[in-house]
Amino acid sequence: MSGGVTIWRCANCRTGYFPEPLLCPRCHGGKFDVDRVHEAVVEEISIIRHMIGQENWTPRRIANVLTSSGPRMTVGLRDESGPGATIELFEEGTAPFGRAKK
Ligand SMILES: [Zn+2]
Repeated sequence: MSGGVTIWRCANCRTGYFPEPLLCPRCHGGKFDVDRVHEAVVEEISIIRHMIGQENWTPRRIANVLTSSGPRMTVGLRDESGPGATIELFEEGTAPFGRAKK
């Protein structure tokens, strides 16, 4: 586990994206620099109560968040943070997660 989540920043216009796009929707550039974002504000929460084919599924919370340096993304939530809360971002494997900032 490491702090922050990887995003891709257009080498031309510096717009941040997650996940990496084929082409920048804004300037149509095709070159991206890897960057990291560490903080986000929760905009909306969804709860996944069932997953087809999964037994012993416990409800999981996911959040649409606006990151401090650019793109919106969907992350798994590890606590009870609600809309408006500032969370810190981290990765498990390649999946982005968030939890309340301490
Ligand atoms: Zn661009």
